[in-house]
Amino acid sequence: MKIARVQPLARTRAVRGPFDYKLKPEHAEVEVGSVVRVPFARRSMLGVVVELAGESSVTPERLAEPEAVLEDRVPADLVELAMWMASEYCSTPARALALVLAPGAGARTQTRTRTRLEAAITASGLRALHGGAVLTARQRGLLEELERRGPILAAELGTTALRRLEARGLVEIEGRMWRPSPRRPAVGHAPADPLPLTGEQRGALDAVRAASANGRASPLLLHGVTGSGKTEIYLQAAQATLAASRSVIVLVPEIALTPQALARFTARFGDVVAVMHSGLSAAARRIQWRRLRDGEARICVGPRSAVFAPLSDLGLLIVDEEHESSYKHEGDPRYDARAVAERRARAHGALLLQGSATPRPESVIAGARVRLSRRIDARPLPGVEILDMRGRHHPLHPETRLALADLRRQRGKAVVLLNRRGWSNFLSCRACGRVWLCPHCDVALVLHRGGGRMACHHCGHQEPIPSRCPACASTAVARHGAGTERLEHELQGALGDASFPVLRLDADATGTRARAQVLERFAAADGGLLVGTQMVAKGHDFPDVALGVVLDADATLRFPDFRAEERTFALITQLAGRAGRAVSGRVLVQTRAPEARSISFAARHDADGFLAQELSRREALRYPPFASLIRIVCAAGEAAEAQALAGELRQRVDPPGASILGPAPLFRLRGRARSQIVVKAEQRTPAIASVGEAVDALASVASRRGVSVSVDVDPQ
Ligand code: ADP
Ligand code: ZN
Ligand code: ZN
Repeated sequence: MKIARVQPLARTRAVRGPFDYKLKPEHAEVEVGSVVRVPFARRSMLGVVVELAGESSVTPERLAEPEAVLEDRVPADLVELAMWMASEYCSTPARALALVLAPGAGARTQTRTRTRLEAAITASGLRALHGGAVLTARQRGLLEELERRGPILAAELGTTALRRLEARGLVEIEGRMWRPSPRRPAVGHAPADPLPLTGEQRGALDAVRAASANGRASPLLLHGVTGSGKTEIYLQAAQATLAASRSVIVLVPEIALTPQALARFTARFGDVVAVMHSGLSAAARRIQWRRLRDGEARICVGPRSAVFAPLSDLGLLIVDEEHESSYKHEGDPRYDARAVAERRARAHGALLLQGSATPRPESVIAGARVRLSRRIDARPLPGVEILDMRGRHHPLHPETRLALADLRRQRGKAVVLLNRRGWSNFLSCRACGRVWLCPHCDVALVLHRGGGRMACHHCGHQEPIPSRCPACASTAVARHGAGTERLEHELQGALGDASFPVLRLDADATGTRARAQVLERFAAADGGLLVGTQMVAKGHDFPDVALGVVLDADATLRFPDFRAEERTFALITQLAGRAGRAVSGRVLVQTRAPEARSISFAARHDADGFLAQELSRREALRYPPFASLIRIVCAAGEAAEAQALAGELRQRVDPPGASILGPAPLFRLRGRARSQIVVKAEQRTPAIASVGEAVDALASVASRRGVSVSVDVDPQ
């Protein structure tokens, strides 16, 4: 008898699989990773086979059978990876498995194999086209299109017209699993050749090749200043990996940066490149997933979820801009794509290659590091000047105003970074002092003048801009602080005109399309300003930015977070990297904390100095990477409920040698009162196990009392 151990994809934590099912003879093809529909708790539920066995502790008569076996089996190594994630992030197998399933698995329409019609021009079609056969203009157009572009999805050209050509033998139409060839970049058809490397790059590539050759490689960190040519190293390392018949995953920090990376890889490797991200339609994601699983594509490019690409024989995992916190997933499980990549690399004997100009202390001590200390164009890094804002009221320092005026005269480009969006940070009543707060969260509402509304940046609540105070009826409403919207408005008034646009890039410009348009306009302009949140410092290539300005650089330092210094250092260094790529650049950093270590190290471009200090500080305080943090948050309608459950958890969590902070109340979020516990542990595995056990033990109590519990291992 063949038994399948199935993990049902149930939502609740209370369901603890796997459960045994006996296989009917016609389900003999079931393997680990097969997706099945099984009867479960008087319902029909999707599940994943996590193990096969010859016998069960349940008597055969009492065992149920799977109702159906779906297509798109998950590769067994991804099942193993999901089970690891479930325990590593104190989640459940079901939630972790959901991340590695084929996109749209189990949806009704997906159980039928869908074929698409693809049309191609035939030899007689070519003769007809060039030999003066009788063709309508429309038919001629269709044939020309097919000649130029190769096989095309029939629906794109109109199936009826194509059928008529097919009847004459001029076109062939075939039903087959259709896959889009990745859009070829405008550079032409021939794959681009590798660039001849600089001496520094050659050294780095040698280090990469040596590391991949030794099989059970530890991670390699490519620490290279912005513009030092890290991408070329990735490309040539990928080439060597493909040549060794192994596959490659390339992670970028966000969807917006995917097209740029995809274009570079496609230009070099053509259609063995696939892309995976949530911005694609479900059908498109499914097509990409299958191409990867079936070995048609051997390189997968995408943001964090691409770490689950179903590639076999992985040889290389690249994490670009590895310092970006967006590699951490905020759903359940709260996985960190960098840690998952490391785990996958280890399982496959593949190399994890992480790159950054501002690497994390974690990565610096995790393995070997190679440096690229010079820019390809040999230009020096821009000079960074710190401007002391203490005692000043105008948001721009006089030096900044001068520099911006100069820039406008010369029609140059500048990037101005202010890590706060909206018009004003908060509103208060001048008469009674009332502050406008979100009704669902204990935070102030931010004024967005363009949208004519007040908005909560935590839950999305919106309300109209008030004209009088509801408490005392006073009409004197004060606006405090300035965000990117107001800064854009003021700079527009002072400097902007038709030939010197002032543009804004922040999360208010919704959608990747809108953001891409802003970036394109800025790239196309002869001169102008780009104002924005930290988004402007992320990986975008602006070749001719002469000036970078950071306002309120110490804002990130005011967060009560042990990573505050790391973030501040990275933000300034990354912005400096955007400036002066083609013209000699200059960066102005306005701050009320001019002495702060992170700011002065960044001003000196001294990454090593910063890392050394940061590592010794973290070691002294026992912060990551010298210990692990685990955060448990209980949320409930009533503060007392949240606090009580957190207290009970506190009693149960008891890992050796760990210190436990809390329970401490957090600000209310989305109408839920919250309480948190933080475990700080030197021994990671027993701490995770202890938290996992405590949370599981209280799961049903918690759900009865309406308390939700979320666990965040390695919180960002
Ligand atoms: P980084 O990712 O390190 O910030 P990039 O990879 O974007 O830097 O490289 C910066 C620029 O230098 C790119 O335009 C790239 O095409 C170019 N480049 C990289 N390596 C070479 C090389 N060996 N020869 C010429 N140009 C190069
Ligand atoms: Zn009032
Ligand atoms: Zn809110």
